[in-house]
Amino acid sequence: MARIELNGIRKSFDATEVLGGIDLTIENGDFLSLVGPSGCGKSTLLRIIAGLEPQSAGQVTIDGSIVDGIRPSARNLAMVFQSYALYPHLSAFDNMAVPLRMRRLSTVERLPLLGSLLPGRRREERIIRADIDKVAAQLEISHLLQRKPAQLSGGQRQRVAVGRAMVRQPEAFLFDEPLSNLDAKLRVHMRAELAELHRSLRSTFIYVTHDQAEAMTMSSRLAVMIGGELVQVGRPAEIYDNPRDVRVAEFVGSPK
Ligand code: ADP
Ligand code: MG
Repeated sequence: MARIELNGIRKSFDATEVLGGIDLTIENGDFLSLVGPSGCGKSTLLRIIAGLEPQSAGQVTIDGSIVDGIRPSARNLAMVFQSYALYPHLSAFDNMAVPLRMRRLSTVERLPLLGSLLPGRRREERIIRADIDKVAAQLEISHLLQRKPAQLSGGQRQRVAVGRAMVRQPEAFLFDEPLSNLDAKLRVHMRAELAELHRSLRSTFIYVTHDQAEAMTMSSRLAVMIGGELVQVGRPAEIYDNPRDVRVAEFVGSPK
């Protein structure tokens, strides 16, 4: 679990400012949904937390350490994207094994043929298989591990993508509209699954969505972003009952 603190995060692309000074603390074990209209800067903020994009000003602190300049893999956060970003030529198992092999195998051991002859690789592969089997059982995808992404449904692909994030045992999960490619019925089902996953992992979740219904039902806290600014942060019911202004009211669907 991780506590993530954002202080004065700004971001400009060329002369255009897209984040105007974001201050936000995500507590250990929070399920924080970051919501707001398309183009308001949600993905940019998530990418800055993950270390995939440098901020123009401000600081990201994870568990008390400033992580500016620390590469994404060393931040121990897992990112799950809308596009799943699975490798199409690899089985579900091998997709989930990618981060583990990157971490556990040497460059030579990773070579498909030569590497497979090395005793160290066989030992590590047994550990990798055990880790993946455990996560696959939890996500109920054990029977799908040999399939390639094209042979999986949208929901199954999304679970493999979540599984790939889970095998690294990250401190926190960052989701960027992970359900927006799914049909409406599956989306509702996956919402329940993600909420359940959060309960069982007790990990910190930051969940970006432009779907307010999704955010209202799953999260413990809601951060509403409009035009690169956080306009309101609080529990979903609090924001719904007491929207700070008409933009927030419209976005969360409060009665007029
Ligand atoms: P959201 O995820 O809320 O839809 P984004 O964070 O993707 O919003 O984008 C916020 C703004 O920043 C948009 O106006 C977008 O066009 C702009 N933007 C995002 N990434 C880049 C980039 N790499 N270069 C230039 N502009 C960008
Ligand atoms: Mg986005």
